[in-house]
Amino acid sequence: MANWEELRGRCMACRKCALAETRTNVVFGAGPRDAEVMFIGEGPGENEDLQGEPFVGKGGQLLDEMLSLIDLDRTRNFYITNIVKCRPPHNRDPLNTEQDACIGYLEEQIDLLKPKIIVCLGRIAAARLIKPDFKITREHGQWFRLEDGVWRMAIYHPAALLRDPDKRPDTFADLRALRAKIREVCTRTY
Ligand code: SF4
Repeated sequence: MANWEELRGRCMACRKCALAETRTNVVFGAGPRDAEVMFIGEGPGENEDLQGEPFVGKGGQLLDEMLSLIDLDRTRNFYITNIVKCRPPHNRDPLNTEQDACIGYLEEQIDLLKPKIIVCLGRIAAARLIKPDFKITREHGQWFRLEDGVWRMAIYHPAALLRDPDKRPDTFADLRALRAKIREVCTRTY
């Protein structure tokens, strides 16, 4: 199995799909490499592409603020990345072909990290990592446990929370459920 540095090196040099033509930076992921909790979005946006870091724009700042309320901090106790590591032009959804080309890197990250909990940020990540017909408005905040034993939940994407602040109370409730699950199944996060 790869180690983190080898995997990161391969990913940073990747040109397996057309997103390599338009990206500024590959956005590999951020956070401690022994975190028990992993957040996964769909792909980098403009700020992320420019800085090479995941979730650093306005949406990312909102996410960090909300997560700090349940004592989660990306420098300390969670890892964050995306399904595709390069920005889709104009922030469109990543195509299935792009997701298929890139998903192997995420699978290797999951193998290395061995998270106890995966939180999908938005419908596209949930459709890929929980079930294809995932309905974010109905199924956010619900727990799913697939055959690998990892607990999985989806919350609204931070960009959706910026567009529609009425969704925020639901997300606070989901985060309280996440905090309870962390206390139940994680040993080092808090
Ligand atoms: S999105 Fe993924 S598969 Fe496509 S070029 Fe970037 S790293 Fe490679």
